[in-house]
Amino acid sequence: MSKVLKLKCVKCGREYNESEIFYTCRDCGIDGILDVVLDYERIRKELTREYLKNNKDYSLWRYLPAIPLEETGGIQPLQVGWTPLYNIKSLSKETGLSSFFLKDDSRNPTASLKDRASAVGVAKAIELGRTVMCAASTGNAASSLSGFAAVAGIKTYIFVPETAPEAKVTQLLIYGSNVFLVKGTYDEAVELCFKAAEEFGWYNRSCAINPYLVEGKKIISYEICEQLGWKAPDIAVVAVGDGCTIGGVWKGFKECYELGLIDKFPKIVGVQAANSNPVTRAFNKNTYEFEYRVPETLADSISVGIPRNGIKALNALHESGGYMVDVSDEEILTAMKILAQKTGVFGEPAGVTSFAGIMKMKELGLLKGDEKVVSIVSGSGLKDIKSAMKAAGKANHVEPDLEDLKRIVHV
Ligand SMILES: *Cc1c(COP(=O)(O)O)cnc(C)c1O
Ligand SMILES: [Zn+2]
Repeated sequence: MSKVLKLKCVKCGREYNESEIFYTCRDCGIDGILDVVLDYERIRKELTREYLKNNKDYSLWRYLPAIPLEETGGIQPLQVGWTPLYNIKSLSKETGLSSFFLKDDSRNPTASLKDRASAVGVAKAIELGRTVMCAASTGNAASSLSGFAAVAGIKTYIFVPETAPEAKVTQLLIYGSNVFLVKGTYDEAVELCFKAAEEFGWYNRSCAINPYLVEGKKIISYEICEQLGWKAPDIAVVAVGDGCTIGGVWKGFKECYELGLIDKFPKIVGVQAANSNPVTRAFNKNTYEFEYRVPETLADSISVGIPRNGIKALNALHESGGYMVDVSDEEILTAMKILAQKTGVFGEPAGVTSFAGIMKMKELGLLKGDEKVVSIVSGSGLKDIKSAMKAAGKANHVEPDLEDLKRIVHV
């Protein structure tokens, strides 16, 4: 018997059997993203604290009973998930918090949180007998898919904006993907990829239409709860682009509660770049309509004009009692530097956006100081050196000579 009870449209509520549909709702089209509804009664019996205590698998697959796969044959031998949750003491001035945690998801095989989704997406593709996959991406979803598909022997076609950071494009190429640098925005890369998927029959990895991908992302919240000794944090802060991540994070916490693993919910706070903030604008206007504006931010992973999973994002905010905050690119670069210098964790711009958001929350008086807050670092700083260099400053050039060194070093 399948773990999946049904697939339910987040827009109109129409329900489907797992076997009758792959992507979005037939009535609502591209906006009708499906949510996987699992058999929690069954999972509750299996995924207990006791079961986990005896489980030696320290990866995302530790929570396999809550992941909608019927077969395990497509699981690739890469260490994904169970990333460190650091209890950070060195940032009490910047955050005003006595209890602050960093979940470092740059420590995944291809160095971003997207690996959680790709691991499940590739396993699902193999379960379905698919041998070709595609993705549109600002960079990380694609490089992540490329890595997992490479191990699995799945062929990939990748669509990224021409402006994607070099390191991410390099990852795609080294993993052997067919890479298309689209002369346009991320939104245009998405359009082209979706059309191509339909035309050529490729299995689409996009979290925004493929309901199984969020099922990988949600596991980060299971890990956070277990790493906190089966306590939910008070607030979890997440950078928002398409909204799949924040949707997944919220789903994970909801499920932990549903399964009796935690006894309260955290508030979910989303953070966007000030000039790429359609979710913030929609949330503040209390609407589910997203208004397109050309996104402008150096945080390429969250540079999104139309959030492809906006409904799940807004649901996460409304259901958890959370909210959105915006940060400027300067604030993101400052956050990158502070985080690196005070914790040793070096995130890419989108990767440190949640931390920038926490400093903003403090500044706006949104924190009391006694909350337990988790910031998710979603991608590695090495993925986008150009942006990091803007925050990092310049190195000294010196002759291989002590006298020349003394010109600079005065102690
Ligand atoms: C994809 C991504 C995000 C945002 O996730 P969405 O699902 O697009 O909202 C944040 N940070 C990094 C590093 C990412 O790659
Ligand atoms: Zn629908």
